[in-house]
Amino acid sequence: MTYLFSEAGLASLHGFVDPATLYAFDLDGTLAPIAADPGGILVPDAIQKALARLKKRAVVAIITGRSRKDAQRHLGVVPQYLVGNHGAEGLPGWEQREKKFRRLADEWEKQLSRIIPDGENSGIVIENKGMSVSLHYRGASNRPASRFIALNAVDLLIPQPRVIGGKYVENLLPKEAPDKGTALLRLMDGAGCAKGFFVGDDRTDEDVFQLDGDRLFTVRVGTDKKSRARFFLRVQREIPLLLLHINDVLA
Ligand SMILES: [Mg+2]
Repeated sequence: MTYLFSEAGLASLHGFVDPATLYAFDLDGTLAPIAADPGGILVPDAIQKALARLKKRAVVAIITGRSRKDAQRHLGVVPQYLVGNHGAEGLPGWEQREKKFRRLADEWEKQLSRIIPDGENSGIVIENKGMSVSLHYRGASNRPASRFIALNAVDLLIPQPRVIGGKYVENLLPKEAPDKGTALLRLMDGAGCAKGFFVGDDRTDEDVFQLDGDRLFTVRVGTDKKSRARFFLRVQREIPLLLLHINDVLA
C-alpha cells in the first residue's frame, strides 16, 4: 500500500481523477468518524460541502453497510446513488431479488433471537438491516466471549449466510446478494463511468479492494498489511483533504 499523500500517491491521484469517474465512498469510518454510539455518527460539515461540490461535477455513490434509510439520516448530502446493506440494497434492477434478501434477513433474525435468547447477558445486539443482519458486540463486557457466542449461533442458521466480520460486528448476508465490489461495478456500468474511485476502511470494503485493474482507484482509511487497497490514508481526518484534491483537479 502506498500513502496517498506521498509524492507518488498524489501523482497517481491527479493522473486518475476525471469527470467520467464514479466516486464512491463507504460511510462509517470513512465519511463519518466512528462513534461509540453508532446512532450518533455525523458526517462533518467540511465533508458534506465537499461532496455537494463533487456531485455537481461527477457521479457520487455511497456504498454502506447501513440500510439506505439509516444512512441517509446521517449523510446530509443526497448522492446520485445510495447502496445499503453492504451492496445488497438499492442497486437499480435488483428490486425483485431484494424481496428474497428481505425474507432471508427476517428468517435469520427470528432464528438468532431463539438461539441467543438473552441479548444483555450475551453482550450481543441483533440488528436486522432489512437485507442483512448484523450481530454487534462492541458494547460487550467480554468481546471475545461474545464473538464466540455470535459465531456459534451463526453456524446453526438455515440457510447459511455469507459472513463478513468487521470492527466488533459480524455481518450476515444472503449468499446471492451483490457485495460492495459487485455493487460498484454495476453502478459504473449503469452510470456509464469507465473508471471507479473508492474509499473504505473495513473488511467488507475488501470486496472492492480485491478487484483488479486500472479502472479502479482504491483507498483504505488506516493501514493493514493484508488489505488489497492500493493506497491508504493514515486517519479519517484526512478525508477532507482528499476531497479537496479531487475537486481541485475536476475544477
Ligand atoms: Mg466503514
